[in-house]
Amino acid sequence: MLRQTLGAAVLLWVLLFLPALLFVPRQTEEEHPLLSAEQTFGSAPSVEVASDAAHTLRLWRDGAAEELSVEEYLQGVLRGEMPAAFHMEALKAQTVAERTYLYYQMAAGAKPSHPQADVCTDPACCTAYLTEVAAREKWGAAFEECNEKILEAVSATDGQVMYYGGEPIMAVFHSSSAGMTATSGEVWTADLPYLVSVESPESADTVPNYYSVNTFTAAEFREKFSADYPTAKWGDKTKDWVGDVVRTDTGRVESVTIGGVEVSGQDLRRIFSLRSTSFTIEAGEEDITFRVTGYGHGVGMSQYGANALAQEGKTWREILQWYYTGITIEDYTTP
Ligand SMILES: [Zn+2]
Repeated sequence: MLRQTLGAAVLLWVLLFLPALLFVPRQTEEEHPLLSAEQTFGSAPSVEVASDAAHTLRLWRDGAAEELSVEEYLQGVLRGEMPAAFHMEALKAQTVAERTYLYYQMAAGAKPSHPQADVCTDPACCTAYLTEVAAREKWGAAFEECNEKILEAVSATDGQVMYYGGEPIMAVFHSSSAGMTATSGEVWTADLPYLVSVESPESADTVPNYYSVNTFTAAEFREKFSADYPTAKWGDKTKDWVGDVVRTDTGRVESVTIGGVEVSGQDLRRIFSLRSTSFTIEAGEEDITFRVTGYGHGVGMSQYGANALAQEGKTWREILQWYYTGITIEDYTTP
């Protein structure tokens, strides 16, 4: 009887306190700095941890630098840079391009325009950025659905970066191309082996404003052009103002002779706010018209092309391999 009572008491004690005993080591582990996961399982966590949450950066926003995790940063960048309605594989490809570009920039050092921070939220300088609060306002009732896709694209590609020759690549991208992407040498000075021209499948069927038209009166055209090129000579006939057009191998305008001055397609794009350098220029009796295809500099991944490839069934890895030649996709490791 006593034995049975003792046995029951022991059983009761075990049932009451065993869960607590099992829980103690976990509590201890969390509270004790020497037993943190990194120090228990990794001798050099800064090299082995590829996760976005484990890395931080300094973001220049609203006139101040703030430190945030790469994970949070990428969510904001993805909200700002690609329509959330795009295919999930395109969103993942964009995330990896953004992550790669971030680490490329951080390796290059802070820009003179924001020496206190690694990146800023000006798309003309670094990359667009949309906070969760701003996205709630912009997307309204569609916020939850859109934001869920953003978070998934970032977490599903956690830590993945494109490399060439052991370094994160300059993962530039643009909105849409006119059939072929541009080489880096067409737009900037250097030809990079991974930024060569490739076919891009987007078209007017899938891209809003794929074709755009900019028309200027003779007076407007002359005024804008002369502001940058005051030596240009203007004859009586507007039709004669525009001379030879030289094109690159990918069909973009390399140079045009205007008023006797040879000017690059990129300069014309800037002066007349054209959406790309894939254009024709036509001088009429009283005005001059540009017919433009696509949007952006044309180098690297085309976002609409990525979406078209995703809809054809390509994965984010295949999309990146398509646009960035000869790259590998690996876990990010700190240099
Ligand atoms: Zn910047």
